[in-house]
Amino acid sequence: MPEEKRKVDMDKIVSLCKRRGFIFPSSEIYGGLNSCWDYGPLGVELKRNVRDAWWRAVVQERDDVVGIDASIMMHPQAWVASGHVEGFSDPLVECKNCHLRWRADQLSGEKCPDCDGELTEPKMFNLMFKTFMGPVEDNANVVYLRPETAQGIFVNFENVRSTMRKKLPFGIAQIGKSFRNEITTGNFIFRTREFEQMEIEYFVKPDTDDEWFNYWVKERFNWYLKLGIKKENLRLRRHGKEELAHYAKDCYDIEYLFPMGWSELEGVANRGDFDLAQHAKHSGKGLDYFDEETNERYVPYVIEPSAGVDRSVLAFLVDSYDEDIAEGETRVVLRLHPALAPIKVAVLPLSRNEKLVPMAREVYTEVHRHFMTQYDDAQSIGRRYRRQDEAGTPFCVTIDFQSLEDKQVTIRERDGMAQIRLPLRDLVSTLQAKLSGEAFTTQPTWSAKAVGTRED
Ligand code: ATP
Repeated sequence: MPEEKRKVDMDKIVSLCKRRGFIFPSSEIYGGLNSCWDYGPLGVELKRNVRDAWWRAVVQERDDVVGIDASIMMHPQAWVASGHVEGFSDPLVECKNCHLRWRADQLSGEKCPDCDGELTEPKMFNLMFKTFMGPVEDNANVVYLRPETAQGIFVNFENVRSTMRKKLPFGIAQIGKSFRNEITTGNFIFRTREFEQMEIEYFVKPDTDDEWFNYWVKERFNWYLKLGIKKENLRLRRHGKEELAHYAKDCYDIEYLFPMGWSELEGVANRGDFDLAQHAKHSGKGLDYFDEETNERYVPYVIEPSAGVDRSVLAFLVDSYDEDIAEGETRVVLRLHPALAPIKVAVLPLSRNEKLVPMAREVYTEVHRHFMTQYDDAQSIGRRYRRQDEAGTPFCVTIDFQSLEDKQVTIRERDGMAQIRLPLRDLVSTLQAKLSGEAFTTQPTWSAKAVGTRED
């Protein structure tokens, strides 16, 4: 699809996020803080669901990957060993006229994009945030906020291997905050200075690395498809030789067609034995592996799938955003996969009539024991459906006057707006089945069949 034809622009996503409580500018009452964002009540649920889906897929449903949660601040030598102190830099140029700063490798021309002024020669700028540990602010106490979660995994390689009695191949996964003092930020939560990563370091026998590299590229690509990302909006881009980091053997970016164009969502790299060998050298601790099958000792190679939580959230929001016509009006709907939807079920009494409320409250009490549920009785039923559509809620349960007589309720589905009526006693089991992908009367976009077609 040509990029200019995409109907979602970022402004629509930003304003929906604000309007519905997904994401707010940070410190907004003070005028905001450049490139910092706060996740609101719906955003925090969406983000948790993204993390949980990843953790389930890469840790809980596998027996060869385990998780850790390492500290953000690490021994400063770890960043010397990893190469970040020396080389984690971007080329910075400054406009001699307006003094705006730019990343030289991201500019297309030689002039300032803002005022056309002349630019300074590029200077390398290290992206690590520095702070001091303890009360004395001197060089001996410098620590860094980690710019990636990966190094916390490498330094724990031997702890995890020996305590979990793991044999190769095995992986260690981690989710957590990272910090980069990016020269330029922007495109909402796409590039910020504080962000969250989901990383796996998968350790393998050296001559099996190509095979595992291909495996993880496929595995990670399919993860996005299974969660509803449209195939035409996702692609793989292999790094050219000149783009590869000096230690990397191979690298693919999984790219998504964001409103500003194709951009990296996740990187999958074959890092060879660079990281473990570096940490072994700088720490003086052996990080090699004894292979009982072959009686050999070697430093494992590592395959690294490295994804961003916030970038994934943005991709899921952009991909699921849709506008259609309902009752003659434009309807904004987030067609989120139910596993990601912040609210799974909304319970809506037809009105605030005192006869309806007790039954509606009873239904809510029962349903919200099972699913993230919202009770809403404010304004007309049409307005409430629209609100839930914008929040991406897959199902609304409506209680009307007939319900008081026949103990039946209506489920209304988000994507096709179809409705079914069913006995109250079947409500929870039916919602469970439908949230797991069972077809509604009309086919929801994310149902098992629809996802199957995309994966083909
Ligand atoms: P870019 O080229 O976009 O700066 P990168 O190649 O430096 O990214 P990696 O170091 O491979 O990124 O980081 C892995 C993942 O972490 C990225 O694919 C992205 O999802 C996420 N990420 C990296 N930097 C940022 C950032 N500043 N803001 C939000 N997410 C980020």
